Amino acid sequence: MEGPIVDGSGSANGPIAFIDRDGVLNYGRNGYVNQPHELVIIPGSGHAIARLRQKGYAICVVTNQSPIMRGLWTVERLHTIHDALRNQLLDEHPDAQIDIIMTCPHRNRDRCGCRKPWPGMLIKGNNILRNQNQPNLHIDWAGQKPESLHPLDVMVGDRKSDMGAGWAVGARTFEVSDRLGLPQVIDRILDDADQGDFYDPMRW
Ligand SMILES: [Mg+2]
Ligand SMILES: [Zn+2]
Repeated sequence: MEGPIVDGSGSANGPIAFIDRDGVLNYGRNGYVNQPHELVIIPGSGHAIARLRQKGYAICVVTNQSPIMRGLWTVERLHTIHDALRNQLLDEHPDAQIDIIMTCPHRNRDRCGCRKPWPGMLIKGNNILRNQNQPNLHIDWAGQKPESLHPLDVMVGDRKSDMGAGWAVGARTFEVSDRLGLPQVIDRILDDADQGDFYDPMRW
């Protein structure tokens, strides 16, 4: 299976919010979220997504889900889990729509370009939403932070691998606690002057 799995579509005229799933929109679990009924959103996530949309952000969820290539469950199962995510967010706020959910199904050893911290999902999301054709960049982790695709683009995650993927596309990066999720940083994200959390990929 090559490349990320793309669920949804949309277009971005303004910035894109790239958002990790587990520990940011919903609670993570030991050993993955394996069933739709195991998916429970973090309270306030739907309101936060709605506020991003109201400010002109397109929403692109980017999630590593290696159980697929481990053979634990199928892409069909993934879609049922994502239906549960979308429904719970919309139950909290009618504007809490996700444009695209991008999933990397691979394991480390598959050496794909989409498993975070590699930025393949963010670049593909950018290309779909902005109708562009950015190539998969060569990333120099020891070099300067790359120039952003849009100055307000943002990556929100609960792990260093999320921060790395955001850094690699020049986005503002915000790291959250996996119990508090996106609501923890939504006021900061919506402050255009907030450049995000400092992140140095060489010093994890
Ligand atoms: Mg996470
Ligand atoms: Zn991948």
